[in-house]
Amino acid sequence: MAWLDNQGIARLNIQNKQLKTFHPDSIGLSNAKVYSITKNGNDLWIGTNNGLNRFNLSSFKVEEIFYEEHGLSNNIVYSLNVDHEGHLWMSTNRGLSKLNTKTKQFSTFLKSDFFMDDASFQAQDGHIYYGGYNGIVHFNPQNIQSSDKSLTPVIENFKLNNKIIKQNETVNNRILFKQAIHHISSLKLSHEENTFTFEFNAIPYDLPNTNQFRYKLENWQNNWQTGNNRSVTFTNVSPGNYRMLLSVCNAENIWSSPKEINIQITPPYWQELWFKLLLIGIITILLVTLYRWRLFRIRQRNILLKRKVKEQTQDILKKSNEIQVISQRLHEADEAKLRFFTNISHEFRTPLTLILGYLEEIEDAGSIQIRKSIKNNALRLLRLVNQLIEFRKLDQDQLKLNITHLEINAFIEDIVISFQKLAEQKNIDLRFEPTPNRLFVWLDMDKTEKIFFNLISNAIKYTPENNPVLISIHENTDTFSIEVADYGIGINEDELTLVFNRFFRSKNSGESGHGIGLALAKGLVDMQHGHIDVQSKIHQGSIFTVQFKKGKDHFKPDDFNQHQQSTLSPEQKTNSPQTMPRVNKSLPTISDKQILLVEDDMELRIYLKKILSDQYAVISANNGQDALDKLEEILPDLIISDISMPVLDGLSFCKKIKENEITSGIPFILLTAKTDSSTRIGSYQLGIDDYIEKPFSKNVLLARVEALLSNREKLQKKPVATRTTASIDKTKLKKRDIQFWKKTNTLINKNYNNPDFTTEILSKKMNMSRSTFYRRFKHISGENAGDYIRKVRLHKAAELLQKKEFSIQQISIEVGFQSTAHFRTKFKEYFGTNPSEYN
Ligand code: ADP
Repeated sequence: MAWLDNQGIARLNIQNKQLKTFHPDSIGLSNAKVYSITKNGNDLWIGTNNGLNRFNLSSFKVEEIFYEEHGLSNNIVYSLNVDHEGHLWMSTNRGLSKLNTKTKQFSTFLKSDFFMDDASFQAQDGHIYYGGYNGIVHFNPQNIQSSDKSLTPVIENFKLNNKIIKQNETVNNRILFKQAIHHISSLKLSHEENTFTFEFNAIPYDLPNTNQFRYKLENWQNNWQTGNNRSVTFTNVSPGNYRMLLSVCNAENIWSSPKEINIQITPPYWQELWFKLLLIGIITILLVTLYRWRLFRIRQRNILLKRKVKEQTQDILKKSNEIQVISQRLHEADEAKLRFFTNISHEFRTPLTLILGYLEEIEDAGSIQIRKSIKNNALRLLRLVNQLIEFRKLDQDQLKLNITHLEINAFIEDIVISFQKLAEQKNIDLRFEPTPNRLFVWLDMDKTEKIFFNLISNAIKYTPENNPVLISIHENTDTFSIEVADYGIGINEDELTLVFNRFFRSKNSGESGHGIGLALAKGLVDMQHGHIDVQSKIHQGSIFTVQFKKGKDHFKPDDFNQHQQSTLSPEQKTNSPQTMPRVNKSLPTISDKQILLVEDDMELRIYLKKILSDQYAVISANNGQDALDKLEEILPDLIISDISMPVLDGLSFCKKIKENEITSGIPFILLTAKTDSSTRIGSYQLGIDDYIEKPFSKNVLLARVEALLSNREKLQKKPVATRTTASIDKTKLKKRDIQFWKKTNTLINKNYNNPDFTTEILSKKMNMSRSTFYRRFKHISGENAGDYIRKVRLHKAAELLQKKEFSIQQISIEVGFQSTAHFRTKFKEYFGTNPSEYN
């Protein structure tokens, strides 16, 4: 085998001298320029201008090619020699190489030396000679030791930011490594210590200059970096886990097993997982807290809102209730005012009616009584007007006190005496109880007089006839009090707090009055630093107590000796109740036509009675109830009644009259100041016969009464009653009365012989209550039903006596007497003779 310059290799068959060339491409030769060929076993090793080829003689193909990258010293391989072990030695353009043919590992020697082609020789003793530019190199391959086993990379220094860190040196508050640097296998660095340098070497240090090192930082720089440098610097290495590998190449081009150092660069805490988790945790907690806080706030706000809405609703409700109460009060005040004006007009009308009526009379004949009455009524009007003015003044704070020293017993007694006559007219026992000793006090005489005028006149006004009124004075340590107690109509418990309100009038007080008297009295008491109170029980009476302080310290200097004009004129002052006309208490004799007059105003009642009594028998009553009581005894031909009255008003009275079978037929005239149409309609619906408004003329009233009575006479022809034994004025009986009388007599005639037959049984048989029966019987017959039955029995007995057929005892039993003695007595009483002497 031989090589051809630039044409690869050729084979010369020695026997036939034939040369066969092998084109480099056909056999896979790495380069056409071949420098040397040597046979080793079945292989031909071919050194070319680019690479070492192993040509297999069996396959006739290049099976392996080696370059620098495989450890060859240089790619230009000049000469090839096989040593005693079968390993291949070669000179290259630069350096010598040994190829371990078994391991295929190269060892390099004299790497920096240049060699020449065709300059080699292998001696018989095994020595190999290579010629180079600097001379010849020869060696015995047997003496060349492989140095690869002994070379170990060592780290000599570790630098951080170019500063060598020593064993046990404190860096950033910690000792970076406690062992010698060449022993350490791991390093933990912070993210700020990410630029570091390793300085290294190989031991043993035989051929320091020729050693090649390679290193890599796995995970950061994955390719081996090869070079002679004995230090490596890694800059700005990101946090993470790395492995630094360092290996050194021996002369035989064998890389030592690498030295490993695990390097951990810790990330900054904000990049740490725990920090991130913590952050996420904190953010989550914050978000949850924020959410819950928001939720809480919203709930709180909702609760607050709800509360506010509730409060406002309650507020609105309260206000609306208040408004309702106010409007109710306003309405009530309005009503009270209206009522007041109606009442006051009534108050004005009554005296006016009287004045006008009396004036009519005066035209005929002026009597002292009439003049007095006119004067009284005019004064009554004046008093009313004055009271109103006084009230207004009090309201406007225009009243001034005029305090003087006075003896209270004498002072109050004077006032009481002035009411004596008025009390007598109502048969009221007006009593006065002074303190045991004289008591001097400081008061405004005029105002105190007005207070007690009001209280005493009220007590008399609201007390029915025959009841007492008591005025008493009591002395206490610092105070004294004056009580006005009556046994009158009393005041409802729920009205007690209202009586001192202006315009207040109790439901049961009737129309006469205007509701300013007590309000004025209270104002006048308050002015004098006193106190007024009332205790009352309905239908039992009332006690008004006025309490004043003793002494004068509670008054201002201004309150004394004011020369104030009294609001009561001297004339009015003389208008004490004693000057009022007296009621003529004697009942009129029953004449043909009887009129029941129902009027609460005493003066009007007297006046009406006066004008009617010329022609009719007049019976008067104070109010509806009083009239009903009187109707138990009498059955009048006509009723004249006022509408507004205490206890039982005119309309209710009229209703009762019209509902009662006995009284329903009696003509009814309503007399009133109330002129509203609803009242009129109401009263006509009740069945009244006429309606007369105040003020009215005397003549008109008389004319209407006259007309009503004669109309009724024409309508009802008077029935002629069949008399039995008792004497009855037939002409006065009406149809219904005749029926009643007949039925009664039939029953008496049937039962007179029954000793148990009494008026009780009789009224039951007549289907009437005892009192109604009794009243009606008396009205018709003028006598008691019991007397009448006895009279019938006695008349029957007289008839039997005349027959002379029975004994007195038999007759007494026959006519229903229980004992003969009683029969004898009654017989004698009635006939004036004993039964035995009767014939
Ligand atoms: P009037 O003019 O109505 O009497 P007052 O202010 O004097 O006005 O009285 C107010 C109301 O108090 C009366 O309408 C009456 O209902 C009641 N009142 C006053 N005094 C008495 C009393 N002695 N007994 C019963 N009720 C009385």
